[in-house]
Amino acid sequence: MEFNGVAENHLPPTVSVLAVCAHPDDESFGLGAALSSWAEQGTRTSVVCFTHGEASTLGTADGNLHRLREKELAVAADELGVASVRLLEHPDGRLSDVPIELLSSELRGVVELVGASLLLVFDEGGITGHSDHVRATEVATAVAGDLDIPVLAWTLSEAVAARLNDEFGTSFVGRRTEDIDMVVEIDRVRQHRAIRCHASQASENPVLWRRLELQGNREAFRWLAR
Ligand SMILES: [Zn+2]
Repeated sequence: MEFNGVAENHLPPTVSVLAVCAHPDDESFGLGAALSSWAEQGTRTSVVCFTHGEASTLGTADGNLHRLREKELAVAADELGVASVRLLEHPDGRLSDVPIELLSSELRGVVELVGASLLLVFDEGGITGHSDHVRATEVATAVAGDLDIPVLAWTLSEAVAARLNDEFGTSFVGRRTEDIDMVVEIDRVRQHRAIRCHASQASENPVLWRRLELQGNREAFRWLAR
């Protein structure tokens, strides 16, 4: 596929991908298509998530979000073919207050446990601009640097981000074409199934559905380390 000079058009073959996320649902809403594609290629996939997403403003009538979102994550991960999930106990919305040494040492343990050969993260601007997303990627990049593991960031095109911000007043951060390393055609069937497992967060989330519509069957990525 040609995409305005983008050099790569397939997910890089690798043995064991670890998705490093801030919240339960990031692995599905954001990284779900990439994770399920890798799983279908026979790559082992794992997810580590720093918080239980208990501070969400969505789904608050559904009960205890800390417990509920843990269950939603487990079922969604199954849909994506994810082999293992580690859910850590840091405070949702305040990840940047947690010392990076602590986060890094926990992440390093997970990287070693699953034998990760590539870390998959949200782009450095956090995609939605959420400070927890930015922090999760910062930690992943630090650990990957120490262990000499490549880091691939899921990103949005500048056009998609601008359109969402225009329509919804959101703070999505997109990238210019020349800053995107890879555009991959993907199938979103399993991602959609996984998203539905996060019922507390997906049912009244028009921004999510509009983003997926604008992205179509393409996902864009940038190397943060390779
Ligand atoms: Zn999130």
